[in-house]
Amino acid sequence: MNKIYLDNAATTPLSSEVLNEMMPYFTSIYGNPSSVHSFGREAKHALDVARERVARGIGCDPSEIYFTSGSTEANNWALYGIATANRAKGRHIITSKIEHPSILNMCKHLEDEGFRVTYLDVDQYGFIKIDQLLHNLDSDTILVSIMTANNEVGTIQNLQAIANIVAEKGVIFHTDATQAVGAINLNVHDMGIDALSLSGHKINGPKGVGALYVRKGVKINPFMLGGEQEYGLRAGTSNIPAIVGLGKAVELATRDITTNNKKVRQLRDYFITQINKNIDLCHLNGHPVQRLPNNINMSFGMVDGESVMMLLDLQGIAVSTGSACSVGSIKQSNVLKAMGLSKDLVQGAVRFTLSKATTKEELDIVVAELIKIVQKLRQISPIGKGQVGTL
Ligand code: PMP
Repeated sequence: MNKIYLDNAATTPLSSEVLNEMMPYFTSIYGNPSSVHSFGREAKHALDVARERVARGIGCDPSEIYFTSGSTEANNWALYGIATANRAKGRHIITSKIEHPSILNMCKHLEDEGFRVTYLDVDQYGFIKIDQLLHNLDSDTILVSIMTANNEVGTIQNLQAIANIVAEKGVIFHTDATQAVGAINLNVHDMGIDALSLSGHKINGPKGVGALYVRKGVKINPFMLGGEQEYGLRAGTSNIPAIVGLGKAVELATRDITTNNKKVRQLRDYFITQINKNIDLCHLNGHPVQRLPNNINMSFGMVDGESVMMLLDLQGIAVSTGSACSVGSIKQSNVLKAMGLSKDLVQGAVRFTLSKATTKEELDIVVAELIKIVQKLRQISPIGKGQVGTL
């Protein structure tokens, strides 16, 4: 059985080009970039090149890039580091209800440390409410963190409008761009973004590596204490192979953005059309147009998304319900709930995330399986039996 992978928002395979760049740094080029001898200088050169590549990919200066162990660390650090460094100015932070747990759980922690956090609502598409943002920005606000694109429903925020409003108030603006890098063009300097998180493994790079961009002049405290690595702000011997891989992955993902996305977007729209044509009582979650090119989050009325996922898995098809990070807990998606979806729709949600390697033939196979699975589940489901639901 040929397996089909439609869970690219959870993680992506390492590209061979990225792997080739990384290989020498596991074996022959093994110096510590902090060492002054030639071995160290060789590693330091690789570190510099990777920093330049990441900076170029998002439109900032290399000196504004700090390597981390991924977006969880970058998000944790951005919030904790900026909040504590700017405590004297104020103690209010604004975020949204649909952020990744690495933002939401750090916000809870900061509340325990005496900060006040406002969690903005979102509308039915997952857009934050700009009026509510404006209304909540006050003289005590020091930081706003709103994700660029949502990992579950793919909705892309009106980032420029948000950045403009926040900048006008003289407040620091951070965005979690983990799902957006390589999907939309981002230029942090042009857009007035003060801090941004990104991760390697979402863009065909290695796992366990990411970066935090912090605009020069923004006050941030270190998160890891120790040596002088990463300008003294993030201590620990640099993971050179992973960082080299991240640099290459960002370069490839941001360079080929238009061509990569055109194909994926067409496949996404084909898949949505095929589902709607063949399965009734379906509902596309998130915004129909302003969404990540590879994301389809579909609720199948009167079935359980978890059952759909498991039955697809038996056929070798990998999809997800909610975000991968919350799998294992039977909690319903807080993102879909915040969007005001009915309980039935939240329960019936399945996320399909494509890649540039996805083919139309694969999608045809998935649709054919879905037709059978949904029909079977509706026949045996106590909620589905005999009912003609409305969505
Ligand atoms: N933010 C978002 C939006 C994500 O999708 C993820 C990964 N699920 C993260 C942060 C965490 O990234 P990492 O796996 O690199 O820690």
